Amino acid sequence: MLRYTHHDGLFRLINKDWIYYFIFISLFQNLIAYTQTPAIKKGLPVSDQPVKILIDPGHGGRDFGATYDAHYEKNIALNIAKKLQHRLNQITGIRAALTREQDVFVKVIDRRRMASRMKVDLFISIHANASDDSHVKGALVVTLSQQGISRLNDIWQQEPYKHALRIQSGPNNMLLTPYPVPVSSLITRTSIRNTSILSQLLARSVLNTLQDNHILIHNHHTMKQDLIVLRALDVPSILIESGFMTNAQDLKQLTSANYQHHFADSVTQGLIDYLNKCPPEGTYAVNHMIYYTPNDYIVKAGDTLLKIAKQFNLSLNQIKTLNYLNINDMPKIGVRLKLKN
Ligand SMILES: [Zn+2]
Repeated sequence: MLRYTHHDGLFRLINKDWIYYFIFISLFQNLIAYTQTPAIKKGLPVSDQPVKILIDPGHGGRDFGATYDAHYEKNIALNIAKKLQHRLNQITGIRAALTREQDVFVKVIDRRRMASRMKVDLFISIHANASDDSHVKGALVVTLSQQGISRLNDIWQQEPYKHALRIQSGPNNMLLTPYPVPVSSLITRTSIRNTSILSQLLARSVLNTLQDNHILIHNHHTMKQDLIVLRALDVPSILIESGFMTNAQDLKQLTSANYQHHFADSVTQGLIDYLNKCPPEGTYAVNHMIYYTPNDYIVKAGDTLLKIAKQFNLSLNQIKTLNYLNINDMPKIGVRLKLKN
């Protein structure tokens, strides 16, 4: 039985053992709930709350970002972000929003505040890169560096009472009101560490699907940087550099609507892959598989109709009917197959 014997500060006014017991149990439950990774939490109540994803098109308004050859990073970022939002909103179990929908200036800190206010489950910032060397090319996926994580820990430990921590523990988010400093700091550190691990898994998923979709990658490892926009207490967050505007080949692709669609589609697949492995608590993804359902598919080497059907959760008959194929037809490489009516 837990018993406080000292009589100072917070506990002076409380003199019944059961209150200590209650505080201890609720604190313990919160800690357990918070340190479990979502993927291993089974038996949660069924929730149909969609996974909320906030997409952040970098820069905007008077902040042009990188500029090259009369092209602005802010426009490329917004174009890709809008396509990503549209693509994600076609998928059952996901709701996507943007931090800016037009060419307007939004402070970086306000982008993060938006994520907190909307209680989103994931945060994806979209940018385009620039380099002095025009040969440098390819996409990058960035997560918060150790330096950024330390900085975040410092910020939260300096002012523990100013913040109420959002704890995701089931379908209803609970508010954890400030506990004595050491406990509050412990929960904060645990939260930041968990978020950092999930952000890395998210980055890896996205990078893998970019590679699988033949998008040129600058670095096969995820990168780490201390960026304010990635300093998140409890929302897995990544920044995607879609390519180098200073490289002719990258710039041609980044400014092509077709490529932007392909890029957004590939990021979508990466996000779905992550959500199926690490479903955010209290969301549709906990109890349902999220399916990637594109409108069409281009046949690649090694594909079979059965393999394609399985990949998109269709029956062999459905894919044949949609594409007017006969029993023995095998589509050639490069043929576009319809996956939806
Ligand atoms: Zn940028």
